[in-house]
Amino acid sequence: MRWFKRPKSGDNPNKSLQSQERFPLVARHAWCSVCQQESRFTRIWRRAAMMGQCPCCQLVFEEPEQLYRRFQPACPRCAEPLEQPQFDYGFCDRCGSKFELMEGAKPGLLPNKRQRDEMNKQGKSWSPI
Ligand SMILES: [Zn+2]
Ligand SMILES: [Zn+2]
Repeated sequence: MRWFKRPKSGDNPNKSLQSQERFPLVARHAWCSVCQQESRFTRIWRRAAMMGQCPCCQLVFEEPEQLYRRFQPACPRCAEPLEQPQFDYGFCDRCGSKFELMEGAKPGLLPNKRQRDEMNKQGKSWSPI
């Protein structure tokens, strides 16, 4: 395991982490397990770098490398599944659910806060931790 340390000097705290983190891709069709049918994904992208902040609760990760050592990285506070570098992600146009879009595989759901709460209520606990 290699550790990438950023130099402390000249570190601009206002730099935008978002700009280079992901690249938009062209729309495609994929199976949505929430809609239970083939759906169009217009907003899709490939993640380029680890996430430095939780998109759900806005928690800033001091050491994202630690979280990304897990098979399924997730936010330590709200359990939001984190996107992994070199993977494709997108939102189902129909229901707005977020999926990991792998070539040749069924898209894997990344449940949002509401979906995680529902799963917990039904006893189908979503617990990557
Ligand atoms: Zn979070
Ligand atoms: Zn859907």
